[in-house]
Amino acid sequence: MGNVGATEVPVLLSPEGLRIDGRRLDELRPIRIEAGALHQADGSAFVEWGANKVMAAVYGPREVHPRHLQQNNKAVIQCKYNMAAFSVDERKRPGLDRRSQEISKVIAEAFESVVFAEEFPRTSIDIYIEVLQANAGTRCAGLVAASVALADAGIPMVDLLPAVAVGKIAGKIALDLKKEEDNFGEADLPMALVPQSGRLVLLQMEGHMTPDELAASLDLGVRGCREIYEKMKAALRERYAATVPSGGTP
Ligand code: UDP
Repeated sequence: MGNVGATEVPVLLSPEGLRIDGRRLDELRPIRIEAGALHQADGSAFVEWGANKVMAAVYGPREVHPRHLQQNNKAVIQCKYNMAAFSVDERKRPGLDRRSQEISKVIAEAFESVVFAEEFPRTSIDIYIEVLQANAGTRCAGLVAASVALADAGIPMVDLLPAVAVGKIAGKIALDLKKEEDNFGEADLPMALVPQSGRLVLLQMEGHMTPDELAASLDLGVRGCREIYEKMKAALRERYAATVPSGGTP
């Protein structure tokens, strides 16, 4: 009371080593992935990850718009990441801001590394990511949703792209930051992994880490991505099981 406007810094790590939501440092938030959540799109997926809710829809390969982006030797991969005006507590300015443009660009570039774009010259593969509720890590949730949506659309890819952010809170490396940890922590490091090759196709960093902390973060992030990868494959298997019943009519 009486402290209106002051930002209270929460205790990010208890003496027992537990985080504000009770997780250990190497624990992911609960994740639920639903493949094929929309009927209109060629492929789609809905991801609930902690308090994040993210929908992804994929169209294509289809005609390129705007036309001048068309490439004669491969498909162009376009991504539009958008945060709904009601997705965050503070009022968010609606429409395309610089952050959304940056996230759209890095996600499209990540998929350029795994999609067999040369199989579809002069076409576009369009990825739409709508964040309905945000609580940190939405670019990773968007990547996971878009990846499952691309597979659901039947787009040939080297592999799915699991993604997660690792960060530093109260001096310790922690997996999958939530909002308070992202706001009051010391670093945030989102990454996306090609599980088969172990190659990272997205890696960004905000804040400061020592080289040793960075190495530990990459290790932890790769382990987190592999855990998420299993959930992505399970969501796609579940989708197939639902549409192709064994030995019966749908
Ligand atoms: N956020 C917000 N308003 C904004 C942008 C972000 O409240 O205009 C919150 C939102 O919860 C988001 C988090 O800040 O998930 C972290 O944003 P960041 O830019 O680090 O991207 P993200 O972690 O979502 O990939």
